[in-house]
Amino acid sequence: MPSETVPLKIVARCRPLLESEQGSGKKVKVSGHNITLEHGGQENSFTFDNCYAAEVKANQIYRDSCDSLIQKALLGYNVTLMTFGATGSGKSYLMSGTYDDPGIIPCVNRSVFNSLEASKGKKEFFVTVSFLEVLDEKMLDLLNPHSDKMRVREHPQLGIYVDGLSELVVHSGEELAHLYEQGNRARKIGMTGDVGAHRSRATAIFFINIEQKDSSSKVGLRSTITQVDLAGIESADTSSSGKAVLEVIKASEQGGHVPYRNSVVTRLLQESLGGNAITLMFATISPADKSSHESLETLQNARRAN
Ligand code: ADP
Repeated sequence: MPSETVPLKIVARCRPLLESEQGSGKKVKVSGHNITLEHGGQENSFTFDNCYAAEVKANQIYRDSCDSLIQKALLGYNVTLMTFGATGSGKSYLMSGTYDDPGIIPCVNRSVFNSLEASKGKKEFFVTVSFLEVLDEKMLDLLNPHSDKMRVREHPQLGIYVDGLSELVVHSGEELAHLYEQGNRARKIGMTGDVGAHRSRATAIFFINIEQKDSSSKVGLRSTITQVDLAGIESADTSSSGKAVLEVIKASEQGGHVPYRNSVVTRLLQESLGGNAITLMFATISPADKSSHESLETLQNARRAN
């Protein structure tokens, strides 16, 4: 695998004001690499690798900020795309989108197979997926919700893996999209009690593992694209919230002890953050008045990770 390290990229994304929020003041302005948020009568400006206003669609964000990373994944890098923000800030919508407005993950799914199929004949490839949700330090296999007794383990050669988690082989972009949708449905069905509270505390992780072999050589190239819809930053469950992940990112940037072992989510992401992994974090915010405190917290935390 290539050893060049690529820095963490942070991108801010402001979602549109919802119909139910009409009348609430708009507190966010985006201009180029800058985003300005008004809170408590003060303007707070932040600079990120990119900033996207509400009207920019996810497929444009994909082309602009993600496609080059997905191409790197096909060259052997581990690539992580992750959302970080408060509940209701548009994390899931950005990652999943809708039929008419597909999110980042459907764009990735399509692009991975388009690129792999373009190299058919020159390369053989083998793709598998896993999809899980973590809530209160417990894992749920979204591609096989009846599975239990999953455990995070470490293999001396293969590294971190989840014992008991299904890993399904995929042969096409359609199959990949289908499995992603199936997992997303399982996510909703698995929610018990207060659905909103469940969603805000749960983290979903979609892994695409790619193995490629040159027709002429026996040496394979392995990489993983990890896409993470993190629990809301306001979640009181600090072990699974975005804050634990942010701490890990900060520590790995600084080169000191990295607290991967503090939570299931950070253990699962051990090989997807830091090292030779490329990480893109979307700091998502709402433009609504009532969310300006959380929006400010999101942007401040995201800036600290930078
Ligand atoms: P989170 O995952 O951060 O809790 P959601 O993705 O569920 O937030 O978004 C909160 C609400 O905002 C949802 O009703 C969602 O449909 C809406 N929303 C978010 N982003 C957009 C967007 N780009 N366009 C239209 N509606 C959006």
